[in-house]
Amino acid sequence: MTPTRISPMLDRELARLQMPYDTGEAARRAVSRDAWAVGAIMEYYGAPVEPIAAAVLRPRDEAEVRAAVRWAAAGDHPLVPRGGGTGLTGAAWVDRPDAVVLELGGLTGGFEVDERRRTVTAGAGLTGARLEQRLSALGLTTGHQPSSAARATVGGFLATRSSGPFSGRVGKIEDLVRRASWVDGAGGLHEDEGPGGFLDLVLGCEGTLGVFTRATLAVQPLPEHVAMTSAVFDSLDAGLAAMRRIVQEGLAPAFLRLYDPSAAVQALRSPRRGAGAGGRFPGGLLSPASHLGRRTLPWVLRAAPLLNRLIQETLPRLWRNRFLLLAGAAGDPFGAQLGASQMSAIMTACGGRDLGQEPARRWWTHRQALFEIRPRVFASGAFADALDVSTTWSRMPGLVSAVLEELAPHAFVMAHFSHAWHDGCSAHLTFAGAGRSLEDTLTRYHHVWNLALTAAARHQATISHHHGVGRLKRDFFASEHGASVELLQRLRRTLDPAGILNPGALWPA
Ligand SMILES: Cc1cc2nc3c(=O)[nH]c(=O)nc-3n(C[C@H](O)[C@H](O)[C@H](O)COP(=O)(O)OP(=O)(O)OC[C@H]3O[C@@H](n4cnc5c(N)ncnc54)[C@H](O)[C@@H]3O)c2cc1C
Repeated sequence: MTPTRISPMLDRELARLQMPYDTGEAARRAVSRDAWAVGAIMEYYGAPVEPIAAAVLRPRDEAEVRAAVRWAAAGDHPLVPRGGGTGLTGAAWVDRPDAVVLELGGLTGGFEVDERRRTVTAGAGLTGARLEQRLSALGLTTGHQPSSAARATVGGFLATRSSGPFSGRVGKIEDLVRRASWVDGAGGLHEDEGPGGFLDLVLGCEGTLGVFTRATLAVQPLPEHVAMTSAVFDSLDAGLAAMRRIVQEGLAPAFLRLYDPSAAVQALRSPRRGAGAGGRFPGGLLSPASHLGRRTLPWVLRAAPLLNRLIQETLPRLWRNRFLLLAGAAGDPFGAQLGASQMSAIMTACGGRDLGQEPARRWWTHRQALFEIRPRVFASGAFADALDVSTTWSRMPGLVSAVLEELAPHAFVMAHFSHAWHDGCSAHLTFAGAGRSLEDTLTRYHHVWNLALTAAARHQATISHHHGVGRLKRDFFASEHGASVELLQRLRRTLDPAGILNPGALWPA
């Protein structure tokens, strides 16, 4: 049961900290879960997510973060750092009634651009969108724009090792970060450099080794122009070969995205019109944007095995659209056009049929749509989630077919590949399903995840390329990292001797 009233002693202690805090039930409930599907499923069925935090602390600067952490360590209060709460894995998730949420959205000060070094320094609470807005006014960008940037924060990016669609050009957040300040579990302040420095050990810690307060990130001029191209391939192998050659030949695409037939349907649909705006691609029944789609979605998803076969096998034969590769090159108009032409030539050499720029441009226009669509899927009673795994080029086809095969009897599945580098790439394996009751839905959801993670582990893939581990995947963390986990645990005990930083996230239970 939720403690709706908190102890007067806790209230007095929080007041003594002299920073904004809230012990009201609505505020505590609002910060007690992130965007993990489990919360949205429970909400649909009207089941309250318990427990909720004992309080929420809202530090406004680094000194207040240090004070909050020292207080928590002295009193043994579990502290859950929280940025925008957009994490998909239950990393910013309260699972103990004595936990206090450290909401970091107030750390927005200290914005500073160093034109000579081409860097920006920003508070950890600044959202990605706000950061880009401020940079764009100066003709600059970090190029780091995950689909969740409207709410996700700089601190959240560092804590999850996030990645945006332009990773081919700028890299992931760990490639962009030049320096970060963070507070350890005893309240000590550190400033470390990256990439390649000590900071690498703390990035991706999901708030369990420290709390990020500030970061300096590389920036570059906003590209003058983005030229685009697209092609369709008859097989996954051919599409992956084209991706591989593009990155191995050093073309640094602004974006490079390969979709399997089901994902192509979704990628090319206009989120506003709902269905079939991809022209050559069908959409309709699966569109959570349309009224019809929302009503039929759970019903359609319960027939997942049939649906998978229909979209993956039958429709591509009729439409001759199988694996779709979209690419963009950024720079001055001439350089961008040259880059797009070079990528197009590689696609053709690998057996692709040229589709021109239109499909890529359609994705570009609607690239943030996922953020709007996701809640509508859950509001229909269905669930959707994605496993982001990465491995080498040679292991990838086997990994993808294993995961898709395991999942196909239980959920509608699709795959796309949107981050590629010299020796491998990551796969974004999306699945959607629906149950008939809360228990049935949660059982299906966890079953599908378990199958997917087991298959990923069997194929020696990493279980997270950029979404993190959280509470969702923590039991697979140890099997992936083996003996190194004990070394990391020692580091953790040194940095957080009281064990107050986000206990329950990342590390095996
Ligand atoms: C629709 C949708 C699309 C998404 N698309 C992408 C995508 O394109 N790429 C991508 O990488 N991710 C994506 N995500 C996942 C998510 O947005 C990222 O993981 C993001 O980096 C989380 O940032 P946040 O500020 O919301 O962090 P939160 O969700 O608040 O927290 C995430 C973790 O980081 C910790 N944390 C947060 N702030 C700090 C801090 N200052 N110091 C220490 N620890 C901290 C929390 O304790 C928690 O463990 C998406 C999510 C959604 C819902």
